[in-house]
Amino acid sequence: DLPATLLDLLRAQVDTRPDSEAVVELGAERLTYRQLWDRASRVSGGLRARGVGPGDRVAVRYAAGTNWVLAFWGAVMAGAVAVAVNTRSAQPEVDFILSDSGTAVDLAGDVPLPDGEPYVTEYATADDVAALFYTSGTTGKPKGVPTTHEAFVTNAENMARGLGVPRDVGEELRTLISVPLFHVTGCNSQLLTAVHLGGTAVIMPSLDVGELISAVSEERISLLVTVPAVYALALRHDAFAGADVSGVRWVGYGGAPIEPSLVASLKRAFPGAQVFNGYGMTETASLMTILPDNEAVDHADSVGYAVPSVRLGIAPVGDDPTVGELVVRGANVTRGYWNRPEADAATIVDGWLHTGDVVRVDDAGRVHIVDRIKDIINRGGENISSIEVEAALAAAPGVAEAAVVAVADEVMGEKVGAVIHGSGERIDVDAVIEHCREQLAEFKIPQYVVVSDQPLPRNPGGKLIKDRLRKDVEWGDPLR
Ligand code: ATP
Ligand code: MG
Repeated sequence: DLPATLLDLLRAQVDTRPDSEAVVELGAERLTYRQLWDRASRVSGGLRARGVGPGDRVAVRYAAGTNWVLAFWGAVMAGAVAVAVNTRSAQPEVDFILSDSGTAVDLAGDVPLPDGEPYVTEYATADDVAALFYTSGTTGKPKGVPTTHEAFVTNAENMARGLGVPRDVGEELRTLISVPLFHVTGCNSQLLTAVHLGGTAVIMPSLDVGELISAVSEERISLLVTVPAVYALALRHDAFAGADVSGVRWVGYGGAPIEPSLVASLKRAFPGAQVFNGYGMTETASLMTILPDNEAVDHADSVGYAVPSVRLGIAPVGDDPTVGELVVRGANVTRGYWNRPEADAATIVDGWLHTGDVVRVDDAGRVHIVDRIKDIINRGGENISSIEVEAALAAAPGVAEAAVVAVADEVMGEKVGAVIHGSGERIDVDAVIEHCREQLAEFKIPQYVVVSDQPLPRNPGGKLIKDRLRKDVEWGDPLR
């Protein structure tokens, strides 16, 4: 039987393995399950002494590390709602989240952790909201997503079953968190999955690829999860060749599309591991689908199959019944956004949450992400997947990264514009277009190409910030 609440999840480990390591902050503190429970309950008592009661919002805005974890659990033990705030945001964005959430107490920067008489609420239920996460804001202003105890517990179980981690893994489950804790991958699929399985979460306070590589061997990491962009840097890093990665048993990637050649490289780089593509979103408390290891290379353009307890459907967007917007329901799916009635009405229809992702389902039932609805380019009535064009560009000679967006056009409505960044020497744009010609139908080939000497703008989750390109790029004259 699954624990009903996050508190039950943690309590189970405190009872069975009090002296096992629960959380490690690299270069700093290490906490056992007993220490985590005791200290978090004092944070909770301290919050209570400051007037925080059930349902009140407590912003968790510390850098990634043990303080973040203690603040999160302290808020949950107080029966409050932990608000996970993006610490890399600019001040106005932080202010937006603090006021949007109606935060009562903001635990940030040098503010010491509250400290008081140990207190753990007895009133938490599965349906209570334990935390608010904000979406990445890739397609608009970030939205607050209320996440219930049940959603957290369900995701941890989906992750365990999806990866096929043995139930008795215990201390052997050691996951390295290099992605932000204020997004669902780091918090839900790593930190809380480690608790669910009785393992250890090893947290990197800031991302450094060299440190990541040494931490894998020094901290005997068995579950590695990060975004494709970080894996690409790690495999290229000088330190990787000599590193001992033999303890790694599960390698997860996701959050953004991955280049198929990178999946093959991951298989070679981690011979003792199974590799998984994981697809999810803030609204689903992380995972929706997983592509299993035995299909990872041959079907690298797919995100795989629904995880246990998640139901998927397709809402038509055109005539083709095999392509449409993915809709989802399940115990991990939010019931609605925080104070956004219009977004709720647009997003949740008859209990199905509309993901904003256009997908194709193949004969075997595998999900393939075609594009985000908002990124699809409509060129004179032809729908073009920006992701498909990006993949072709990224595989062209000399190209390291590519982003494709619509360029407004009086005749066609929209035309295909590409920003590319090179891996070394000067990029030969003609050769890039020639390469596209071999891979793409004529109408999909970019008509505007801008070569950027800077890496493309990405958020901490590795997602391209296309809105910035739409605003900033000077397209110049079309190629054709
Ligand atoms: P916003 O909703 O505020 O515009 P966002 O959708 O980027 O931002 P998140 O919830 O962090 O916010 O990201 C979820 C999205 O990330 C998914 O809807 C999907 O488009 C993309 N994504 C997640 N995992 C994968 C994956 N494995 N492969 C491809 N895309 C992915
Ligand atoms: Mg989204």
